[in-house]
Amino acid sequence: MVKINENFLKLEKNYLFINIAKKVNAFKAANPDAALIRMGIGDVTLPLAPVVVEAMKKGADEMGVKETFKGYEDSGAGYDFLKNAIADYYKSFGADVSADEIRVNDGAKSDCGNIVDIFGDDNVVLITDPAYPVYVDSNRMSGRKVIFADSNEENGFAAMPDDSVHADLIYLCSPNNPTGSVYTKEQLAEWVAYAKRHESIIIFDAAYEAFITDPALPRSIFQIEGAKECAIEMCSLSKTAGFTGVRCGYTVVPEALKVKASDGTEVSIAQLWGRRQGTKFNGVSYPVQCGAAAVFTEEGQKQIKENIRYYQENAKIIAETMESLGIKYTGGVNSPYIWFKCPDGMGSWEFFDKMLAEIAVVGTPGEGFGKNGDGWFRLTAFGDRDNTIEAMRRFKEMLSK
Ligand code: PLP
Repeated sequence: MVKINENFLKLEKNYLFINIAKKVNAFKAANPDAALIRMGIGDVTLPLAPVVVEAMKKGADEMGVKETFKGYEDSGAGYDFLKNAIADYYKSFGADVSADEIRVNDGAKSDCGNIVDIFGDDNVVLITDPAYPVYVDSNRMSGRKVIFADSNEENGFAAMPDDSVHADLIYLCSPNNPTGSVYTKEQLAEWVAYAKRHESIIIFDAAYEAFITDPALPRSIFQIEGAKECAIEMCSLSKTAGFTGVRCGYTVVPEALKVKASDGTEVSIAQLWGRRQGTKFNGVSYPVQCGAAAVFTEEGQKQIKENIRYYQENAKIIAETMESLGIKYTGGVNSPYIWFKCPDGMGSWEFFDKMLAEIAVVGTPGEGFGKNGDGWFRLTAFGDRDNTIEAMRRFKEMLSK
């Protein structure tokens, strides 16, 4: 008889956004005329930059001509033209990453979930709480022990290492989803030092790095000295350049990242990851990689930054609403997320229900990201400007009653 991976049975039955969708559908069925505003799922709403569309069209045209047609890409790790563009981008903010250390993928979620394949199931995994749910679920699927580092009001939702607790794998996300907090260089240096002392590896999720406006804040863990010996970084064009429906991201595994196997031999993590990807992943389509490379051109950067500025303005509108109501929040600057404390000590699902029922605005209850999210709530700045303004008008009205 077939045996299933019973770890799946131990996962939360419903993924956060499925629960939300159920509640929203029930609300819509009961209130068909309500003007619902969605500020829950962190999906972008602005179209792709014109240079990206042109580059993808050109790539597609090349696929239709014998001389320029492309089948499987040799390495499956990404074309050199894209990896070189990404490496140059890293250099532009002071992170020394070489093209050989980069593997292109179909978005950060795949690699966030798949990276677990190359690590033993007896590793202790440390995840900051609250967190992007993929880190917890992908480790629980393989039965790993997951422990949490508390991100809470006291530490500004930026959990810091604790030497009395040992972890082998550490997930950090900065700018953080869901809390919008951003680690400083000094704070990341503390994590790097911890990882070295404990011989652990940090998996650093930089999916929102493009939202950082403060030049003092690190966009990459590789801006921190010594990080190349203890960290892997994942990044995505989803939020940077509106690629949620295009699908392209990249993972950096430094050459210097080595660990000892049980027989004492030194193993390159990049080699293991390459072996895993070579077996289970055949690369990203050529037209998509053409579009991704266009993001890193001068014109591409100019165009995507216009979209990012639009979202940043939305974030400012939401943050100003919180300020005016005296509501505690994090994020809103250097991040597309605003993470706020539910008024009157309400629970986060309770506040979700109130917002939906009274003002037809959908957000994300903090509890869905971990226990420290209870009593907190996430709104995204990825919506339409008019909707953001209207949602905040309704929000103020609801709370002034
Ligand atoms: N990492 C974080 C923190 C995210 O919030 C997301 C998406 O919302 C991802 C990774 C995955 O992005 P994608 O798979 O679209 O690249």
